[in-house]
Amino acid sequence: MPQPVSYRGMTLLVPDNDSEWAEYFAHARAHTLMMRACTACGLMRYPPTHACPWCMDLGWRWQEVSGRGTIHSYEIVAHAIQPGFKELTPYPVVLVELDEQRGRPTPDEALRIIANLVKDDLSPEAEARVAIGARVKVVFQDLADHFALPQFTLGGEPPVGRVWRLGG
Ligand SMILES: [Zn+2]
Repeated sequence: MPQPVSYRGMTLLVPDNDSEWAEYFAHARAHTLMMRACTACGLMRYPPTHACPWCMDLGWRWQEVSGRGTIHSYEIVAHAIQPGFKELTPYPVVLVELDEQRGRPTPDEALRIIANLVKDDLSPEAEARVAIGARVKVVFQDLADHFALPQFTLGGEPPVGRVWRLGG
């Protein structure tokens, strides 16, 4: 039986037959960020789907990535649809382009992962500090013995490319 995980008053349950996500979150609990890499074309993908979205091949292996990347896009959540997030609003959700596969297979399609942008104490990062182009690194929020959520923090490195943020 899968073990339910409690997160902000919600129950997270990954079914036993959902090996993609069960293994992904178990790797995160070991504080490694793992992507599925295609054994035919070599490209990594996220989410960890069964087939390669670029060449459709079914062969894959787990490949560790550094967890460093650049904010490709973001949003500020002002109205949480889940009660557990209500007290966190407004909080940022970021789309991070990972360094290992920047701009591949095309400038419009790369290895991108969605997550919360948090401070070192895992509380939401301030809206004024979020920007497209800002550098980030992964951190892991441990929720159970078999489960952790990858989140991102500002990496302390200079931004990459054009920096843009929502107007205040
Ligand atoms: Zn492929």
